[in-house]
Amino acid sequence: MTTSPRGAVLQRDGETYAIIPSLNGGLLDLPTLKKLTEVVEKYQIPIVKLTGAQRLALVGMQGKDVENIWNDLGMEPAPAVGNVVRSIQTCPGNAVCKNGKQNSLALSSKLQELFLGKGLPSKLKMGVSGCPICCAEPWLRDIGLFGKSDGWTVVVGGCAAGRPRIADFITEGLSDDKAVELVGKIINVYADNAKKGERIGKLIDRIGLEEFKALI
Ligand code: SF4
Repeated sequence: MTTSPRGAVLQRDGETYAIIPSLNGGLLDLPTLKKLTEVVEKYQIPIVKLTGAQRLALVGMQGKDVENIWNDLGMEPAPAVGNVVRSIQTCPGNAVCKNGKQNSLALSSKLQELFLGKGLPSKLKMGVSGCPICCAEPWLRDIGLFGKSDGWTVVVGGCAAGRPRIADFITEGLSDDKAVELVGKIINVYADNAKKGERIGKLIDRIGLEEFKALI
């Protein structure tokens, strides 16, 4: 068995690879866009695909080019596979959206800085929305947060898999710092109590919501 190049996933043709550079909250600035277009042109990458988690997948490059592509991009691979904290789906929030009640981009950036890539019993996805309209789908994420005028609401245990699960309400009215603190506790409780491969929603179903809340 050959080892895939760094941060690359072999595609179904058995020959070419895909990579997903890490983005913070799905944000792209002009220098990053320029680097991406230069790399796509230089290596003739045939597919550039937005993923469901607001990342950008570059698909179809040769394995020998992957390390040079990372070097040209100056970016790191997103934790897109495996049992880790994945990239955080984030809406624009009150930085730009007229409906926004809280700064989802700032909170998401802090959560990503603290927890992205942390190893866990199964994958863990988060969604952060600036208001209860919930464009970043927090009710369908393992940990979801959405803003109201008085702070952050936290919901846990959602997923949008083959058998979707709506998250359970945990608490509301949290400051940014308290929300980050609670997410850290939830992740630790999950790490300490879940079986291998068990998402947070399954853990809650197994031990009960009240027991889960007591642990956090
Ligand atoms: S969730 Fe609310 S703040 Fe975020 S983009 Fe949607 S409407 Fe705007």
